[in-house]
Amino acid sequence: MEIQDLMREIRKNALERIERRSPYDLATTWSQEDLFYSGRGKAIFMILPTSGCAWALSESGGCTMCSYIADSPLEDVPADILTDIFKKFIEKYEINEKTAVKIFTSGSFLNNEEFPKEARLEILNILKHEENIEEIVVESRPEYVTENVLEECCKASGDKIFEVSIGLETADDYIRKYKINKGFSKKDFENAINIIKKMKTSCNIKSKVYLLIKPILTSEMDAIEDAVKSAQYAEKIGIDRISFCPATIHKGTLMELLWRRGSYQPPWIWSILEIIKRVRSSVKIPVIMDTSGFGTRRGPFNCKKCNSKLKKMIIESNLNQTIPDEFECECKNRWTVDVEFSNVTRSTISPI
Ligand code: SF4
Ligand SMILES: [Zn+2]
Repeated sequence: MEIQDLMREIRKNALERIERRSPYDLATTWSQEDLFYSGRGKAIFMILPTSGCAWALSESGGCTMCSYIADSPLEDVPADILTDIFKKFIEKYEINEKTAVKIFTSGSFLNNEEFPKEARLEILNILKHEENIEEIVVESRPEYVTENVLEECCKASGDKIFEVSIGLETADDYIRKYKINKGFSKKDFENAINIIKKMKTSCNIKSKVYLLIKPILTSEMDAIEDAVKSAQYAEKIGIDRISFCPATIHKGTLMELLWRRGSYQPPWIWSILEIIKRVRSSVKIPVIMDTSGFGTRRGPFNCKKCNSKLKKMIIESNLNQTIPDEFECECKNRWTVDVEFSNVTRSTISPI
């Protein structure tokens, strides 16, 4: 069966089970310490629900690891509702120190069909007038990164850093196409990055890449190699910042289906540590490792004795960009064996 047929079927079943909720119920915000281009600061995160990722709703069925569509109202969200939610959220915070605002839409902020232009520009304009806001971070697929839309955003956000984050997931076109079903090539990604680079002469724009650690049907060893190579590629083509997303099992995805069959496990935290060590030694741009889901049944896992200690070390390493100190735990031997034999066991995974 083709991966897109399978994804379409899985997505259809997942969408049928979704309990419809209003944009107000689905929206959420929180804040935490984060790394800025200028050092540590406070980041405000906002999830503003839109009609849903156009790629996930298309005939493609979307990406194999992503269930963000389940957090969408699945109908157009008008501009005034989006700006109203945003205003209610921003009012909750006292912005009296260096702050970044990260707007997540579970899709593409730059796609007019998902996020109405008026709402986009009004929100950016509000942020432009907040003195202590240094960075505005949004996410988009590369096909929506155009000179036109970036020019509008840059104008609306003034001299703030405007960062566009794109989920390339891997530098390997084969993995992205057949294991992630991402629907765009490295060339598409590079075109978007070139547009961003071109805009740098006239505005304070930056690019970030999301890289997925351990897509489905990938051995522990290959996952480490792919992550390191992808980070090196990102630096080489001029990306400003890297954010690694170690896989966690989302509900209603192909990844979950394989996991339930025993054919997939999220990466070991040891693998993540190995990636951090190798990437920090070979890549100079800032690299952040997402730690959500660490130590849970559906996320990256070592053993109960060391999960939380390692999570803390990785969060600290995100903030100071250093390589975590050496650390030992008895579970490390099992990881070593898993890495050494992972390319042998991979062949036992039954075809989909
Ligand atoms: S990972 Fe991004 S592009 Fe893929 S389905 Fe999820 S939101 Fe859409
Ligand atoms: Zn352990």
